[in-house]
Amino acid sequence: MDQKELLRRLPSVDEVLRSPYGLGWLDAYPRRYVLRAVREIIDFKRGEILEGYTPDVSLDAIATDIGIRVERLTAKRLRPVINATGVVIHTNLGRAPLPPDVLSNVVDVARGYSNLEYDIEAGGRGERYDHVRWILKEITAAEDAVVVNNNAAAVLLCLSALAAGREVIVSRGELVEIGGAFRIPDVMLQSGAVLKEVGTTNKTHLGDYEGAVGEQTGLLLKIHQSNYRVIGFAGDVSIGELVGLGRRKGVPVMFDLGSGCLTDLRPYGIHDEPLVHDVVREGVDIVTFSGDKLLGGPQAGIIVGRKDLIGRIAAHPLTRAVRIDKLTLAALESTLFCHADPEKARERIPVLRILLQEEEVIRRRARRISLLIKRGVENVEVTVEKDESQAGGGALPGVYLPTYVLTLKVRGVSAQLLERRLRKGEVGVIARIKAGKVVLDARTIMDSEVKLLVQAVREAVG
Ligand SMILES: *Cc1c(COP(=O)(O)O)cnc(C)c1O
Repeated sequence: MDQKELLRRLPSVDEVLRSPYGLGWLDAYPRRYVLRAVREIIDFKRGEILEGYTPDVSLDAIATDIGIRVERLTAKRLRPVINATGVVIHTNLGRAPLPPDVLSNVVDVARGYSNLEYDIEAGGRGERYDHVRWILKEITAAEDAVVVNNNAAAVLLCLSALAAGREVIVSRGELVEIGGAFRIPDVMLQSGAVLKEVGTTNKTHLGDYEGAVGEQTGLLLKIHQSNYRVIGFAGDVSIGELVGLGRRKGVPVMFDLGSGCLTDLRPYGIHDEPLVHDVVREGVDIVTFSGDKLLGGPQAGIIVGRKDLIGRIAAHPLTRAVRIDKLTLAALESTLFCHADPEKARERIPVLRILLQEEEVIRRRARRISLLIKRGVENVEVTVEKDESQAGGGALPGVYLPTYVLTLKVRGVSAQLLERRLRKGEVGVIARIKAGKVVLDARTIMDSEVKLLVQAVREAVG
């Protein structure tokens, strides 16, 4: 067939749109993307013909290409991935996966109207914070609580409401950067509070705080070393001692716990994370923590503590700017409800389940994946090895959790290329490379993802 004839047979945009294919796409996708895909593919075919190629220009052949194109154009940019990194609370991968009953509560609340700020008893305006206040008081034993968008906002808000224009005393060993440019000195500046550093990087004594307290002091602030440790000749002041000093001097004490753990992890050999209710019991006036770290819920910032101080915080104008939305609130309420029963929380909250999995369970999962890969994929070398995973997400730095990983090696395909193909495949699999091999940590791979993962490996290898 000559060039002219091919060009004549190439369907027009209109013909494609009016075909059953076109009508189907127009029904399923926004018109602009259908039109863009149709034009792109027809232009592409025309280009091929003009360059002397003889592509199949039948409607069926063109429709296949357009279908793929329109699907790609309309694919969600934010989408699920398989976390094979072994980092349990991975900030770049969305931190905490939510339990099914938490998700269904979100759907129930979001589908229609809700009593978000409506008091059903009184038949009038209510407060959005009331929906979680009761359960937070229950599980942390604090006098009062308020919740915001995330913990960074919680810290900024507390400093603004309680210490703007006054000095906040912080140990030099705790002036942390969390990542994503959240640095305590910068947040302090934004809040209008004046940072007063005391002690040294490795050691701060009670006397250092005591010597710094004066007329201008608005707050004593302790920050949990969530993503680093100072080891060796090191020491800080316990929260109990700080509370004692605060009481003597009449200065409130705030503790930014970062992760905020509600579950006792000590029976599992993890001793580094203070429990929220222990800290509250020590008499700390204000405690802040995240909703999506060890709590295992949605992104949120939780503030619990003294009733009068919480009242001041809730009344501050910034509170409105960092307020929590109803989807998050619905997720947070049901996550917190799971925590009301610590035994069940360990089973039902994915972050805790993944963190506390028994080695044997991980080993069996790794073995199963390995067998499925070997059975379904040719020319790939798979081994199962012992390794270590991390909690991540600014929690439990230096705690290494024994795990099992799969290593993949394919002849003729570099580890870099294989890692990239896994990442960019239909279902993104996020893995790491170690010693020239692609490593998949079975800890963070969910049982429900195993089939998809094996399929993804097949595609990446083939
Ligand atoms: C993670 C963390 C924050 C920030 O919390 P987000 O919920 O990520 O905003 C603040 N302080 C500490 C100590 C943290 O570990």
